[in-house]
Amino acid sequence: MSTTPTRAGLDSADLSRPVVLTGTPVVPGVAVGPVIRPVGAVELPSTEGPWIAEDERAAEKDRFGAAAEAVARRLAERAAAATGVSAEVLATTAQLARDRGLLSAVEQRIGEGSSAPVATVAAAAQFVDLFTSLGGVMAERATDVRDVRDRIVAELTGQGEPGVPTPGTPSVLLADDLAPADTAGLDPARVIALATRLGGATSHTAIIARQLGLPCVVAVGGLDDVPEGAVVLVDGEAGTVTVDPDLQDAGARVAASREAAAALAQYRGPGSTRDGHAVQVLANVQDGPGARAAAAAHAEGVGLLRTELAFFGRTEEPPVEEQARIYAEVFAAFPGGKVVLRTLDAGSDKPLPFATAPDEANPALGVRGLRTARRDPGLLTRQLDAVAQAAQETGAAPWVMAPMVATVSEAADFAAHVRERGLVPGVMVEVPSVAVLADRFLEHLDFLSIGTNDLSQYTLAADRLSGDLADLTDPWQPALLALVAQTASAGQQVGKPVGVCGEAAADPMLACVLVGMGITSLSCAASSIAGVGARLATVDLTTCREAADVALAAADPQSARAAVREVLAKA
Ligand code: PEP
Ligand code: MG
Repeated sequence: MSTTPTRAGLDSADLSRPVVLTGTPVVPGVAVGPVIRPVGAVELPSTEGPWIAEDERAAEKDRFGAAAEAVARRLAERAAAATGVSAEVLATTAQLARDRGLLSAVEQRIGEGSSAPVATVAAAAQFVDLFTSLGGVMAERATDVRDVRDRIVAELTGQGEPGVPTPGTPSVLLADDLAPADTAGLDPARVIALATRLGGATSHTAIIARQLGLPCVVAVGGLDDVPEGAVVLVDGEAGTVTVDPDLQDAGARVAASREAAAALAQYRGPGSTRDGHAVQVLANVQDGPGARAAAAAHAEGVGLLRTELAFFGRTEEPPVEEQARIYAEVFAAFPGGKVVLRTLDAGSDKPLPFATAPDEANPALGVRGLRTARRDPGLLTRQLDAVAQAAQETGAAPWVMAPMVATVSEAADFAAHVRERGLVPGVMVEVPSVAVLADRFLEHLDFLSIGTNDLSQYTLAADRLSGDLADLTDPWQPALLALVAQTASAGQQVGKPVGVCGEAAADPMLACVLVGMGITSLSCAASSIAGVGARLATVDLTTCREAADVALAAADPQSARAAVREVLAKA
């Protein structure tokens, strides 16, 4: 994927380095190349003047309309040339440049005498405030609005379109953060790795990097000081950016990572360690098309069906029939295989207007997940009816789990509803209380599934969406790993399965640690299945156990990764 550049152009002082910067690893792989950065920020006008005379305002509106349309058209053309998530992200941003609400807000301000650039900035600020106050996933829309604002202002004022330059040689893109439309348009032949100062494992940058298979590290400290043109090595598994690496060593690491990538292409499942210890490698999906894509990526089944995402943006509860149709489509993608369906995880970062209150002061700690059934018990029972109906129609035997469970009695109550319908009950381990009392929960349940995204958020008291706190929600945090180990061990004691379905399961090196702790299945995005499965196939169970021991003994994520890398390298 990358070529190793020469050191030509670097002065001799550089030989005393390298400097290794650390961040949160997101997509494994190693690449080395010269640094490029996004084209500089668009200069925005002040919010005052110049004022437009009344008889020129219609022409100013036309000028704005033409600029917005030019931006939308360019984004739509790029969307048409892209595929998958990239196409979706570009199309969404293009739609925003044509959004009636945004366009009217700008036109209204021009009608009051503002110039088109000034009106664009003011109207965008209004939308940014709105989305930010909604929080969660909606807050991420604020980034799209800012991006569209910059593109329109650039068009109006004759500045170059912001974004990522197209380098002549394969290069590494370093940035503070990347606008969704910039990451979506990347050409992986020219941009061979990404590293950002901000962002977490679930940021747009991370999602697109995963889709493109680009080595990626986010939340990297010290990235600002790396000059454009400097040679860096990005290691997306170790979570490091090495400035001015030893080029011989860099070449060897790139070659080893290519070899691993080739093994990955051969992965066909089922998951197991080198010595034959079976570990199911499953997929996280949200609907039928996602489930079919996961089957094509050699997932053995679905470890997490995020049902709430199938109904995102809906204002009315979907009828039982419609729900049953969607679930049946997922079950049908894995005939006779395992599908773990999660009941609606509405609230917090996934608000659903028909299930959640819009005005909670602290939604991450509020009425989300299973708690929505306190307000409307029918929401849960109708969903379970739909699952039972889909199971009957397809002959599937789905496992059903509830999100955001905190007490044993909640779990027991949920299990009773699930068993009544002939389904297999479990709960997600997202709240530390479940990990702490895992043995008691398992008295009522047939399985547990650990959601490390929320379990880290609630254990470390750090918002999972905050780029500034991404180091705290790192899945290698020892406190999180201790809770995972405790839960896995409770499962082993009674012979009941304990899986992991959070982002931790998508990290091939951490997957070995989890298996060493006794985790029985790993569920991740379809694009991560081969990486996890192929890596597991290279180690034996004893090595995984040793890796678990050293990870649990480490003081922080960095030393845990270093210690595990050493153990796995010996295997
Ligand atoms: C988790 O919390 O780890 C999880 C898998 O659920 P979600 O990311 O959908 O909250
Ligand atoms: Mg969760």
